[in-house]
Amino acid sequence: MSADPSCLFCRIVAGEIPAAVVLDAERVLAFRDIDPQAPVHVLVIPKEHHANAGALADVDPELAAEVLQTAAQVARDLAIDASGYRLVFNTGPHGGQAVDHVHAHVLGGRPMAWPPG
Ligand code: AMP
Ligand code: ZN
Repeated sequence: MSADPSCLFCRIVAGEIPAAVVLDAERVLAFRDIDPQAPVHVLVIPKEHHANAGALADVDPELAAEVLQTAAQVARDLAIDASGYRLVFNTGPHGGQAVDHVHAHVLGGRPMAWPPG
């Protein structure tokens, strides 16, 4: 699906809602989470609307790979690659997914607890 006008992240892609963009490529966008849970908390999304990571991987595995490559690029750009970081794809209600447009959370800048709550 290309865009869903009711989707918050599609609206960010369209420029209708502002975001603190850290990387803007042809097919993917990375921007700061509005409610950061770590010193570095960036969301990486495909510009096309896909509901979650599994749906994206089924329909367009190359784009799914680009989301992962972009997450790694963001980690390098924001200098958390050496200290380490966490990648999270929340999926569905029990996964805590609030926005149904696939997004990778890139979290770093402090040690992450495991298991998560
Ligand atoms: P999730 O719970 O995995 O669906 O994550 C959605 C994330 O989107 C949350 O961490 C929110 O803080 C974040 N978020 C919600 N609205 C915005 C916004 N306008 N700009 C940036 N991040 C947002
Ligand atoms: Zn969307």
